[in-house]
Amino acid sequence: HIYLDNAATTPMAKPVIDTMMAQMQQDFGNPSSTHWFGREAHTVMDAAHATLAKSIGAKPTEIVLTSGATEANNTAIMQTAHKRASLGKHIITTAIEHPSVLKPMAALEQEGFNVTYLPVDENGEISLADFDAALDDDTILVSIMLGNNEVGSRQPIAEIGARLADHQAWFHTDATQAYGLLDIDVNALKVDMLSVSAHKINGPKGIGFLYRREGINFPSFLKGGEQETKRRAGTENPPAVAGFAEAVRLITPQEKADRQAKYYGFKKQIIDSLTGAGIDFKVNGPLKADALNHVLNLWFPGVSTYALQTNLDLAGFAISGGSACTAGSMEPSHVLTAMYGADSPRIAESIRISFGAFTTVMDIAQFIDALEKIVTRLRSKTH
Ligand code: PMP
Repeated sequence: HIYLDNAATTPMAKPVIDTMMAQMQQDFGNPSSTHWFGREAHTVMDAAHATLAKSIGAKPTEIVLTSGATEANNTAIMQTAHKRASLGKHIITTAIEHPSVLKPMAALEQEGFNVTYLPVDENGEISLADFDAALDDDTILVSIMLGNNEVGSRQPIAEIGARLADHQAWFHTDATQAYGLLDIDVNALKVDMLSVSAHKINGPKGIGFLYRREGINFPSFLKGGEQETKRRAGTENPPAVAGFAEAVRLITPQEKADRQAKYYGFKKQIIDSLTGAGIDFKVNGPLKADALNHVLNLWFPGVSTYALQTNLDLAGFAISGGSACTAGSMEPSHVLTAMYGADSPRIAESIRISFGAFTTVMDIAQFIDALEKIVTRLRSKTH
């Protein structure tokens, strides 16, 4: 079986597993305990804060560990809105955010907040003109993802950060998909909050962080103990935290650049082969070397997502028919809908292929071979 669904999740790297195993066997203490066992576990937390902070140009005290990007996004959005409701009721986001952003937004609309969902073009990109038109004195929060999980498009986060420098609105970005591929500096981007998840970068599931710039204050989303300097209640998970930090250490700036280049090569290899074989298809999203290159979303006119995905699965290739979060529910992709309109045939005839650290040239060659055969066979059946 060949795994080409790395935007959904990634396998853990060997050094990550080793680090977690050692951690589980050595210190089992509760990091909040003041005795030796607790102190030992606490050193893991301190070291991880330092590593994670360094990876985005932040201070260790600005990192709040969470159960993943879902919790980080929910916390940033719900807590900002509730804390700042007296300053305004307007929030700006985009139509193509992950459900862990869109669902809190919908909940806030129920509470009386006004949410602007910026539209995107055929490349899955918002326009700064639309952003400028939406921003007003009532805006208290802007939440725009760094890169998209279904089509790999990027948004102009630094440009928006610059525009918000003298504005009251707090600026949050969901960097879950971008974190392992792009150099991220919270001061260059001028963001106030940023969400990351470990399992997208060969780390463990169920752990992530919310970066909160100094001065961005709101109560803990979870009510309970005083962990994470009172910003996130609940006993920490030191093995997962240690594994997360190890995964981050493995992705050096050079490694990120190498992956971006390698994945762009994979994209070209697939596109050039399909074109050469005379197969009718279109790319959904940007085909730019500086997009999030681990994601390739393709439309095969006349071939249903379901048929293509199940046939590829039977042939041993794991890809996705959209995002993992919406695939199970058979909901049409809100991302492709935003890009091409609800009537577009692309929505029911597209697949997402996503590469990871362990994807090889041979995997791609075998995948192309299977894809071409399956598309050709499925088309010959229907015509
Ligand atoms: N945001 C984006 C862009 C994602 O791709 C994901 C994972 N599908 C999440 C948030 C949620 O992350 P987690 O699985 O850590 O809750």
